[in-house]
Amino acid sequence: MMSSFFRLIFYVLLFYLIYQVLRFFQALKKSQARSKKASTAVSSQIMVKDEVCQTYLPQDEAISLNFQGKTYYFCSEKCQQKFLAEVKKDKKTRPSLNS
Ligand SMILES: [Zn+2]
Repeated sequence: MMSSFFRLIFYVLLFYLIYQVLRFFQALKKSQARSKKASTAVSSQIMVKDEVCQTYLPQDEAISLNFQGKTYYFCSEKCQQKFLAEVKKDKKTRPSLNS
């Protein structure tokens, strides 16, 4: 009689514990999703400089160009073309700098 009473309490406590653990994991999942969202928001706010017209713009809106191991960003294709034209000019005037 007494032992079955304790067993009942034991089961109630066990279910309560499982319930709490499940709630904890749900909260963990939610917070992970939240932090993921936050990190993408931060990455989209990275500002990059357009070397041609000297303006800053968000990285995800910029045109990126990988040139000689360095990434350059431009506000428009026009600026990218300007940059490439400038680089070609540099090649002609300073051929020793090219490797
Ligand atoms: Zn530009």
